[in-house]
Amino acid sequence: MKSKFLKYHNNRLHLEDVDLGKIADEVGTPCYVYSRRSFEQAWCQYNSAFKERSHRICYAVKANDNLSILKALTLIGSDFDVVSIGELNKVIAAGGKPAGVVFSGVGKTRNEIEEALKAGVGCINLESCEEFERLESVAENMGAFVNVAVRVNPDVDPKTHPYISTGLKDSKFGVPIDDARELYRKISSSKWLNPSGIACHIGSQITIVDPILEAVGHVVDLALDLKTIGIQIETIDVGGGLGIDYRGETPPTINELVDGLCRVVPEEFKLVLEPGRSIVGPAGLMLTRVEFIKKTKDRNFVIVDAGMNDLLRPALYDGWHDVLTYCESLAGVEGDICDVVGPICETGDTLAKNRRLHVFEGDLVAVADCGAYGSVMGSNYNARLRCAEILINESSYRIVRRRQTFDSLISDEKDVLID
Ligand SMILES: *Cc1c(COP(=O)(O)O)cnc(C)c1O
Repeated sequence: MKSKFLKYHNNRLHLEDVDLGKIADEVGTPCYVYSRRSFEQAWCQYNSAFKERSHRICYAVKANDNLSILKALTLIGSDFDVVSIGELNKVIAAGGKPAGVVFSGVGKTRNEIEEALKAGVGCINLESCEEFERLESVAENMGAFVNVAVRVNPDVDPKTHPYISTGLKDSKFGVPIDDARELYRKISSSKWLNPSGIACHIGSQITIVDPILEAVGHVVDLALDLKTIGIQIETIDVGGGLGIDYRGETPPTINELVDGLCRVVPEEFKLVLEPGRSIVGPAGLMLTRVEFIKKTKDRNFVIVDAGMNDLLRPALYDGWHDVLTYCESLAGVEGDICDVVGPICETGDTLAKNRRLHVFEGDLVAVADCGAYGSVMGSNYNARLRCAEILINESSYRIVRRRQTFDSLISDEKDVLID
């Protein structure tokens, strides 16, 4: 068991002090369940690792944007990284301050920029020269001043999955670091834009520190170079956090990463870190029930009531998630090799392949480590309702997102139904 908040007690799987069978009975399956203490502790570990260094932890909202999670993080002092106006508005709805928000993303629309400036967003991270022109024209029209950072692309290989690697030359993200100087000149001559930082983010699920530090080293060089032409940068935003242990990966500790960053970045710069996965990933699991055990000559299928519309990671990038039986006594039996699949009409709808699992029809299983990039990627494919989310706090829990209703599923089509 990887998360210390997940454990068997009296033969039953518990998250914190709550019996997961109780949640499944009362709320139904599938559903996501999160441990509040788990993600709060992870956030606090990042925060305290910086010790006296000036820094901000901007939780990456795209990893999990549930309002209650955003509110819990706001309450312990988190700032936020968003990639759309919807995410910014969710932060505001959860009580977060717009001034503590960094707005990243390659395709911000004029409307999004306008709304963000109106809300008083803390910093806009620019991803291209074209976006600079757009931001400047919007800011000028509104008469609004705005802090900006350029997200540079340092051309460093993060050695992670190609779909979540973002800092290579051929990536759509960021401005090539060699072109950044010119862009900063333009920014600094703008009346409305203040070049307050430099940002980079080379990818997600990174399990070694070196590529991150290498990239940040290039960013520091740029910051010092800009100083020589009279542009004083205040913050260095190093992007997302560490990868997590899905399948025996051994990511460095938070302290190792932060110590490295503090070593590479001179004290004169404030550090910004935008962790998502490592905060909420291990804090969440998905509960699902076995509908059928289907045996064919070649394979055994465990057909569960959750599908790729609930958890897309396995289908999208072969994401691995441990599958745990609810009863500890079943966990001890070796079981047959089987594929855990959902009910959706796609072969890609496989949650886990080639696992030894000893379960029966009606049994409950937990899909581990899916607090990040889980529920947020949920969809209504096959007219399936978005599932419920539950937040556990020690021995109590509450529903923090209701299971979607059929009425809500069809509401945007019903009023405009053809005659
Ligand atoms: C996705 C993303 C993050 C979060 O990355 P994690 O690996 O989940 O910590 C941070 N910053 C930016 C710009 C991102 O796109």
